[in-house]
Amino acid sequence: MKIICIGRNYIDHAKELGNDIPTEPVIFMKPKNAIIQAHAPFYYPEFTNELHYECELVLRICKNGKYIQERNASNYYNGITVGIDFTARDIQNELKKNGLPWEKAKAFDNSAAFGKFIDLAPNFDKKNVNFSFNKNGETVQRGNSRDMIFSFDHLIADISKYFSLNIGDVIFTGTPAGVGECVVGDELEAFLEGESLLKVGIK
Ligand code: ZN
Repeated sequence: MKIICIGRNYIDHAKELGNDIPTEPVIFMKPKNAIIQAHAPFYYPEFTNELHYECELVLRICKNGKYIQERNASNYYNGITVGIDFTARDIQNELKKNGLPWEKAKAFDNSAAFGKFIDLAPNFDKKNVNFSFNKNGETVQRGNSRDMIFSFDHLIADISKYFSLNIGDVIFTGTPAGVGECVVGDELEAFLEGESLLKVGIK
């Protein structure tokens, strides 16, 4: 399986990091080793001094496909959850400045946490999915899929031009505004429609 991630998919978040609004999806990937299981501890990596959380909606791919049409895209995912795209922001800023790839900042071990997937009901309203994220019990990010620059279906169509999608792949669909630092001792919790689906403690 693979973990595909989308950068800058919410206008407010692109602006908070001083990035331009993209005209096509910004795509990057994380390896399988990046997965951290729900309720497992996260050990603060020694190579960063500025670890950021990014809470995101995550889709589960349920059908193999390539060159998927946007109008058929909803047949290719059947589950949704919330996840954290852990980012070494200091490393990423350095890499960005030098025009280098982001992997060291984004794709390291345990950098992809996601919760239990919720099966999508046939009447699922994909343009109105609420999610939120707490740090130490305080809500620091709130998002709704209606504010995404590129919709779920648009992302599937675009990604599948470059990369075949396979059953079990997951897609992190980008983070809304409110990203920030986490430190040892922080307790992180992510919610989908008010339901807690993911908890991570930083050790
Ligand atoms: Zn992200």
